[in-house]
Amino acid sequence: MTTSSVKGFRDILPEEAAGRRAVLATASEMLVAYSYREVELPLLEHGELFARTIGESTDIVEKEMYAFEDRDGSLLALRPEGTASLVRAYIEAGLSRSLPVARLYYQGPMFRRERPQKGRFRQFTQIGAELIGRNDAGADAESISLAADICSAAGVEGFRIEINSLGDQQCRPAYREALVAFGREHIAELCDDCRSRIERNPLRLLDCKVEGCRTLMGAAPMMGDQLCDPCRAHHDSVLEILDASGIEVVARPSMVRGLDYYCRTAFELIADGLGAQDAIGGGGRYDGLVAKLGGPDLAGVGFALGVERMLMAAGSQATDAGPEMLVAPLCAEAAATAASLARRLRQAGRRVEIGSAERRLKAQMKSADKTGVAFVVIIGEQELAGGSATVRDMAAGQDLPACFPLMATGAEAIAAMEGGGRDEA
Ligand code: AMP
Repeated sequence: MTTSSVKGFRDILPEEAAGRRAVLATASEMLVAYSYREVELPLLEHGELFARTIGESTDIVEKEMYAFEDRDGSLLALRPEGTASLVRAYIEAGLSRSLPVARLYYQGPMFRRERPQKGRFRQFTQIGAELIGRNDAGADAESISLAADICSAAGVEGFRIEINSLGDQQCRPAYREALVAFGREHIAELCDDCRSRIERNPLRLLDCKVEGCRTLMGAAPMMGDQLCDPCRAHHDSVLEILDASGIEVVARPSMVRGLDYYCRTAFELIADGLGAQDAIGGGGRYDGLVAKLGGPDLAGVGFALGVERMLMAAGSQATDAGPEMLVAPLCAEAAATAASLARRLRQAGRRVEIGSAERRLKAQMKSADKTGVAFVVIIGEQELAGGSATVRDMAAGQDLPACFPLMATGAEAIAAMEGGGRDEA
């Protein structure tokens, strides 16, 4: 009997690992270009952190969080998202004093016990960026621009940016009441989940995937029609700045996002052709979150991108580069010399594999051919005695006329192989 992986928890095999690394590296470069600095956050937090921030009556906290009692009785949770952790870290480290305006990013695995399906896993990877301490529309536009630029740079093609405003403490309570009234009026037409959401979290009615609810909610009041003047002006400025930067966005009046802490701007990046799970990222403004976690009253805006979905949308074909050289010992006595030479070549920047002295030269050559190795450095009894290796140029199909000393530095050996040998030919 073998033990399988846990449902929804994937192994990232070598075919996928190179593409992921490339996406993460490209994202980091873009984040640095926007002046964001990385924070590495723990995977485990106190469970209450998420209940306080994401909201008690959200799907994430109610149904999806991996929360458990530690041996000392404290309640811990595997982080389901990064913003709450990042804000906690920001406050805990006292960064609000040194960095009243902070641009920070994180990347790493998140955990949600959702129903696994294409593009949805229980462990997935996010890249998230947060801009804390700015409440102006320019900050929202920067966040959206950054998310879009990361996706483009990572090769994600055919995505659109959807945007909405969720209002603030001034205008949202009245809107919430309007939604509750609408829900009560149409309670018979709602699914069981939505019925229980009416009083607890009415905004989520707009999120429901059940066809009947979706149709009904098409006729519900929309936040966008009920924004107070400052929220309206803020939203218009965000749109204006994005337009001036050449970033196209489309309005989605029904977008509410799953978390309680958003206010004003909410946005999502949606990729074509991904099927049901087509959101590659989302974010928004969360003024009040820093204060809620015991920090100063600072505004904030940010987003998280899903790396697995970005890779799916980018159709990444990246693979790890194979070895450039094979050092082939032909007898047991050559193994030590081979290991030492291979190490020198690697220190000089080459990708080098060592063959096994137990395999015949022919077999070693065959595998070198398969892996696309350019040079095979052969060390047999004769080479050991003469103090220099025979080098086979695989493209030319013949040995180089010049051999190089076994004790050469990596750089000398490479020069002999790539230049010297052929020049003298
Ligand atoms: P959220 O934190 O829910 O706003 O999610 C931000 C992004 O993370 C989404 O747009 C997805 O790309 C990704 N994501 C969220 N949940 C999952 C999941 N269960 N599996 C894979 N990716 C996910």
